[in-house]
Amino acid sequence: MLIDTHAHLFYPNFNEDLEEVIKRAKDSGLDYIIVPATDLKTSEEVVELTKKYDFIYGAVGIHPHETKDWDNSLIEKIEALAMNEKIVAIGEIGLDYFYDFSPKEKQIEAFKAQIELALKINKPIIVHNRESDEDMMSVIRSYQDSGLKAQFHCFSQSFEHARELIKLNHLISFTGNITFKKQDSLRELISRLSLESIMLETDSPFMTPEPYRGQRNEPSYVKLVAETLADIHHLNIEDVARITSYNVFRMFGIGSKPGTSFTYKIRNSLYINITNRCNANCQFCDRNGESVISGYNLKMTKSEEPDASVYIKEIGDPKQFDEIVFCGYGEPTLRWDIVKAVAKYVKENEGRTRLITNGHGNLINKRDIAPELKGLIDVVSISFNSADPRQYSELMGLETRFFNEMISFAKDAKNYVEKVVMTVITMDEVNIERARKTVEEKIGAEFRVRQYF
Ligand code: SF4
Ligand SMILES: [Zn+2]
Ligand SMILES: [Zn+2]
Repeated sequence: MLIDTHAHLFYPNFNEDLEEVIKRAKDSGLDYIIVPATDLKTSEEVVELTKKYDFIYGAVGIHPHETKDWDNSLIEKIEALAMNEKIVAIGEIGLDYFYDFSPKEKQIEAFKAQIELALKINKPIIVHNRESDEDMMSVIRSYQDSGLKAQFHCFSQSFEHARELIKLNHLISFTGNITFKKQDSLRELISRLSLESIMLETDSPFMTPEPYRGQRNEPSYVKLVAETLADIHHLNIEDVARITSYNVFRMFGIGSKPGTSFTYKIRNSLYINITNRCNANCQFCDRNGESVISGYNLKMTKSEEPDASVYIKEIGDPKQFDEIVFCGYGEPTLRWDIVKAVAKYVKENEGRTRLITNGHGNLINKRDIAPELKGLIDVVSISFNSADPRQYSELMGLETRFFNEMISFAKDAKNYVEKVVMTVITMDEVNIERARKTVEEKIGAEFRVRQYF
């Protein structure tokens, strides 16, 4: 399930063998291709392509290179083309100060006018940016609260810009250049970004990935981009495909939201979606929102929560996984009996178990459950969140007594399991070093930081 979100299939170098290129894309496992136009003529061609091939979607708009004769009467024409059923965005549009094909003022004028159109017709934009970071960011910032959704294609800006754009709800995408030998800094940047904000693209016929560099690029090579992302994030290509495809659904509405998963596999671990309920209400948690993690939909109501036999059946032989992890968008100890029943099965069949919890299990179950971890759970991961009790309670929407509860559960759990790990996520307001000190010195647990933005 791979999607190439950026392929200019109307370029003349596809004239001879477009059918074969498209067939190769299909054969190599691509679900969809998005073809962004670059001017009015190619916008019309894109519309035709989307009519001819059911798995091709398109975007219409004027590329910055083509804006030297821009005048606002073009907007009506683009709008009319954008009304076609499978046109999912306005693009590609943006700024390019590397090539001097159009004056800056014209580029900015055309870019803004097309953003206004996208907002009017409620479609995202596909953004091209080269050597124009400063103006690009100031244009995008000026639309901060407008509801604008953008894909920043062939991303080459700084980590700080990536972080800012992602905070503004935009997504970024990478092409074959991430496979180039001299692109260590780009790969380093990618390693610091969550795949939840990334889409795949080829930018065909350009940006051909290794080992085909120097030849014409084509959508089937998107697999090489996906493999590189998988390598960087130590994931399987299936993980990358699933996560990035869901991002395409969120951005462009192509495909569909996956059905609820009771168990879900990431890398070689199997995660058990115990519940979507929680006693807390963390500011950073999407439990009440989409509840999609790594491309899996974890949303379920109380009445949909399965019993232990369903999980056990899906686990099968637990030895085939690195570990069985009790996790999800909810607090597993709310269904402690189910966790124990599943963990018992896993341990009896020589698997490994990990419980991810907020550490409030004793209060939730109105008894000391730590001794019950023994023999059932190998590792406990506790969300530590902050060393400051007041901040902790604000972040989690709970009273401060829950902070002490979490600390004492962590200390107690150490007596019954192999390892206790405590995690914080990187938020500007959280003092990571203070958290580390408290966890390592006062609790004596392992400390781990997770990126968040
Ligand atoms: S404790 Fe975990 S599941 Fe509960 S609201 Fe916070 S992040 Fe979400
Ligand atoms: Zn581009
Ligand atoms: Zn392009």
